[in-house]
Amino acid sequence: MSKKDIDLLKNYEILYNFFGPQGWWPADSPLEVIVGAVLTQNTSWQNVEKAIENLKRERLLDLTALVNVEQDKLAMLIKPSGYYNIKAKRLKNLITEIYKNFQDLEDIKKLSMEDARNFLLKINGIGCETADSILLYALGYPVFVIDAYTLRWLGRFDIKFSDSKRDSYHQSQALFMKNLPIDSKLFNEYHALIVRLGKEFCKKVPSCHECPFYIRAL
Ligand code: SF4
Repeated sequence: MSKKDIDLLKNYEILYNFFGPQGWWPADSPLEVIVGAVLTQNTSWQNVEKAIENLKRERLLDLTALVNVEQDKLAMLIKPSGYYNIKAKRLKNLITEIYKNFQDLEDIKKLSMEDARNFLLKINGIGCETADSILLYALGYPVFVIDAYTLRWLGRFDIKFSDSKRDSYHQSQALFMKNLPIDSKLFNEYHALIVRLGKEFCKKVPSCHECPFYIRAL
């Protein structure tokens, strides 16, 4: 693919027609999305699912319960997701800040998207991808989530972004948000489709011959 192929809305349609709806984010509640967004850092979703199952078994997928649980106990329960001591600390920080400031997740939605994003980014251990995943998938704000799959896919259009991780995040996010209707449902599905593409075809060593973009170009 090349830069001329980057009609983002058309590419969305190609992905959607090929893969169908992805049903993201796989969670029973906004709080479960928030927990999953922290646990999924540097690990596979299968590992996150095991950790979330442990939390459900202990009835800890509840804001007050997570505020009150001992950090060491939390770390043991989320062990399957890896980096469990760091993630337990991050999760406690995040949940405690939410609880202190809002008590109820619904109350965060009263903030503008910019204010909600700034609130999350001030919390230790919450970077842009985690904050935007929470904003989009847990709270329904229309923000495009950028991850390693997205950057790899864009890189294959030969688009150059900044060498700075943070700047390249914002530049690629702006590319989507300036060239697509601002629509949380669209952003939700599009990001999920890019992840699917990245896992199945647009891998480190791409399988172009089976990819919907290659098939379409034939
Ligand atoms: S796998 Fe598909 S999207 Fe990725 S480079 Fe090949 S044709 Fe393009």
